Amino acid sequence: MGQVTVVTGGSRGIGAAVAVRLARAGHDIGIGYVRDREAAERTAEAVRAEGTACVAVQVDTGVEAEVDALFDAVKKELGPITGLVNNAGVTGPLGRFTETPVAEMRRVVDINVMGAMMCARRAALELSTRHGGQGGAMVNISSAGATIGSPGAYVHYAASKAAIDALTLGLAKELAPEGIRVNSVQPGMIVTDIHATMGDPERPWRTGGRVPMGRPGETDEVAGAVAWLLSPEASYTTGAVLRVAGGM
Ligand code: NAP
Repeated sequence: MGQVTVVTGGSRGIGAAVAVRLARAGHDIGIGYVRDREAAERTAEAVRAEGTACVAVQVDTGVEAEVDALFDAVKKELGPITGLVNNAGVTGPLGRFTETPVAEMRRVVDINVMGAMMCARRAALELSTRHGGQGGAMVNISSAGATIGSPGAYVHYAASKAAIDALTLGLAKELAPEGIRVNSVQPGMIVTDIHATMGDPERPWRTGGRVPMGRPGETDEVAGAVAWLLSPEASYTTGAVLRVAGGM
């Protein structure tokens, strides 16, 4: 059976690398993006260059109707969905907890937690044998921050990623009898636009001894872990939280 995987936040950064890596493994890909249509189209072309099909769909994962529209569009264009990479995420500006506006915290929770939950919920309804599906797999993109706490930088974001790991553990157990594996990947400091967006583009290179390997990671180094968790090689792996953080 062909594999059809939805990658939210697939236009840029980790999601884009995951989309191309999965295409190389034979997956057709549904890319979700929220603003950067050009980047989404570039990634879609890179996926097609690997020989698989791709559709790019604009979606704010914090909005339930848009999440449904994403899954509907991918299903219509590419066929039944077999997997989800729950990758779309934001941090908001760097800063101490007391200086982070409540509206910013709420946006981060809406996208990182509610968005991931709504995508996981819709994917479970598509994949679950209990609901007529064929089974499948999900990978939730968490963060090393989930266990570090990210003091002085983005504690609210770290808390949102800890929620992602709890979601992974619970869903892995709830959905295992229905043919669905659910795992998390916790990236550390990875070179993407996210650091410039939070106000510090050089952040990955100022590891300041925090990263034992002494360097930031590349998006491909995260994509490999995600691709393995979605592959048949990981057929007995569920509820795992895989750290990809250079020893951090
Ligand atoms: P990025 O380069 O900033 O890319 C973010 C992606 O998410 C883009 O594709 C963006 O779409 C999409 N997106 C943002 N808000 C969205 C929304 N409301 N609805 C749908 N899509 C949305 O980020 P990244 O560094 O690749 O991060 C990807 C994931 O890894 C995130 O969950 C992040 O928390 C996690 N992570 C990253 C690092 C790191 O060091 N980079 C470390 C740990 C965890 P547009 O292109 O349309 O804007």
